[in-house]
Amino acid sequence: MSRARLAVAVCVVVAVAAFFAAGGPSYFTFDNLKAQQAALEHWREMHPWGAALGFFAVYIAFTSLSLPAASVLTVLAGAIFGPWLGVLLVSFASAIGATLAMLLARFVLREWVQRRFHAQLAGINRGIEKEGAFYLFTLRLVPAFPYFLINLAMGLTPIRAWTFYWVSQLAMFPATVLYVNAGTQLARLDSLRGILSWQLVGALVLLGIFPLAAKKALEFAKARRVYARWNKPARFERNLVVIGAGSAGLVAAYIAAAVRAKVTLIEKGRMGGDCLNTGCVPSKALIRSAKLLSQIRRADEFGLRASAQVDFGKVMERVQRVIREIEPHDSVERYTQLGVECIQGEARLTSPWSVEVNGRTLTTRSIVIATGAEPFVPPIPGIRDAECLTSETVWNLRELPPRLLVLGGGPIGCELAQAFARLGSQVTQVEMLPRILPREDAEFSAMVAEQMRADGVNVLTGHKAARFIGRTLVCEHDGTEKQIPFDALLCAVGRVARTRGFGLEALGIGVSKARTVETNEFLQTVYPNIYACGDVAGPYQFTHVGAHQAWYASVNALFGFARKFRADYSVIPWATFTEPEVARVGLNELEARERGVPYEATVYGLDDLDRAIADGTARGRIKVLTAPGSDRVLGATIAGEHAGDLIAEFVAAMRHGFGLNKILGTIHIYPTLAEANKYAAGAWKKAHAPQRALAVMERLHAWRRG
Ligand SMILES: Cc1cc2nc3c(=O)[nH]c(=O)nc-3n(C[C@H](O)[C@H](O)[C@H](O)COP(=O)(O)OP(=O)(O)OC[C@H]3O[C@@H](n4cnc5c(N)ncnc54)[C@H](O)[C@@H]3O)c2cc1C
Repeated sequence: MSRARLAVAVCVVVAVAAFFAAGGPSYFTFDNLKAQQAALEHWREMHPWGAALGFFAVYIAFTSLSLPAASVLTVLAGAIFGPWLGVLLVSFASAIGATLAMLLARFVLREWVQRRFHAQLAGINRGIEKEGAFYLFTLRLVPAFPYFLINLAMGLTPIRAWTFYWVSQLAMFPATVLYVNAGTQLARLDSLRGILSWQLVGALVLLGIFPLAAKKALEFAKARRVYARWNKPARFERNLVVIGAGSAGLVAAYIAAAVRAKVTLIEKGRMGGDCLNTGCVPSKALIRSAKLLSQIRRADEFGLRASAQVDFGKVMERVQRVIREIEPHDSVERYTQLGVECIQGEARLTSPWSVEVNGRTLTTRSIVIATGAEPFVPPIPGIRDAECLTSETVWNLRELPPRLLVLGGGPIGCELAQAFARLGSQVTQVEMLPRILPREDAEFSAMVAEQMRADGVNVLTGHKAARFIGRTLVCEHDGTEKQIPFDALLCAVGRVARTRGFGLEALGIGVSKARTVETNEFLQTVYPNIYACGDVAGPYQFTHVGAHQAWYASVNALFGFARKFRADYSVIPWATFTEPEVARVGLNELEARERGVPYEATVYGLDDLDRAIADGTARGRIKVLTAPGSDRVLGATIAGEHAGDLIAEFVAAMRHGFGLNKILGTIHIYPTLAEANKYAAGAWKKAHAPQRALAVMERLHAWRRG
């Protein structure tokens, strides 16, 4: 905690303690109030302005310090100032006092609370940002929630101060009127409890939940409006239709079948989608051949005499063999056995409850759109004539291009550029930004770039592709033009969601700025019974994220009438399968700084790890970000052999809320790469060793030695 925060916290605690020590609560009792009524009225008659301003200031001071006197003071306002002036004074003083209390709590505690419980609070923060005013209004009107507690709790959320102020003033107004009015009848009152009858409490509760209920009703009406122009079938043949049998669609259908729903999965291309056929699987199979070759080239280092020649056609045949071996996992046969009806054909939405495929119309209660994404080819002049390959077509190559130009320095561009270079292509990689893998911390980009250059890739960052002239790229760099001739061009500048040509436009389902299907936090489109997941929904483009979203889409589609779940993106890991492999979960330094999240970074170098040294892979590092003064993991990046596997321990730590102390206290098998995680935790522990206790121990041991 900073000094300023500590000073403010101490002042508040001292003020509250002084109030209690001086017997404050005994003055602010109902009986004392009645006893002092005459004296107070006299005071007000003698000094009308001074009394009003003094009361106003005292009210603000007491409420901003959260002292337990607000109700009594409100009644007092009625007793000494009458209904009109009483309400005026209290209405403003209570809203100002509440806002000051909220700001005090925010200043002292919010940063710490948000940092400590970042993952748990993510959903609440989103809710408050979207609907904070509604929640506050309800809380204020329902008398069961104490005034001071609401002020303090709201201070820990991202609600805007102005919103807090005006909603508080508005929502507290009815209770203010009631209490002040009761104060005008003070002589006849027996206790504060008598002010609120159960009928009045009931009315306030109703008033409180009215805005939320009205909002829900509005949403319901909005949903009805989008459905208004469609004829809803009297009954549905299916519970769910899933469009697209990629990673996301397969999981959505699997879950529906597992809970015995009637589900149909429609695929226009190959079962398994991008991941199996043109994405993860072929790329990893190609990378394996390239890696093996790079290892054979190091044979001498391991005391071996070996050499290898590349038969590129056979390498690509192996890629296809690997696909065929994995294919049964995603096959029509397997899914049919699981209870999914699989249809081969191009699906088109014809209404919110019907999908047309192969001339048939299927009716369904809900629909999941999982149509994935496709490579984006930028409109650079001449690119069409350059016969650009993409991640969809590169797998058809059977001859190694002598000179390959790779556009794009993201994960796909880097993985393929390195693999082709290792297999013998002369690869030039062109990236517009100042470095490759720009989402990762600069040191990890540099490690990958260095290895890629060592593998023979001509990595050109800060180069903007301007135009193609036949098989030559003209690019701009530092104000000059450079020409790069090539035999084959691979475009890997990103992938864009498949949102066209299957009825989204006709239904009026919107597309976001990121060109993904617009969904809410439940993955619902504008039609509450139509969901989207996977690459088509974004914001991530990974197989495991598509599968994760598919659970939400499927469960919400089938059981949303009873309960819906918000898609949780609080702990999303990923890896780039270059050498060194780069894996990440949570924040890196770049994002922590961008978001203003305070952190401590602990680094462990893999060059120190016994197993890595024995394997000849002693390169790379683990960087763990923790909350300052705590072992709680905010994020981790690993560059090195099997980084994508090693990161799993940090993913579990973040997901299940255990810290580096627990990782350090876990037995890791010797000698393994996984030990690196423990050593990273050990490096953190060493940096946080209790120096004073160690000094005492040193003296103790010296004394025992005599
Ligand atoms: C080269 C490359 C390497 C990758 N490596 C990795 C990796 O290592 N790890 C990782 O996590 N991710 C990786 N990815 C990303 C991963 O492949 C995708 O995130 C994942 O496949 C997305 O799954 P999906 O189900 O959303 O979409 P897809 O897999 O694209 O599936 C969508 C399916 O919908 C079908 N479809 C579309 N429209 C219709 C229609 N109207 N009717 C019927 N069917 C339709 C398509 O034919 C397609 O089969 C890689 C991608 C590429 C290109």
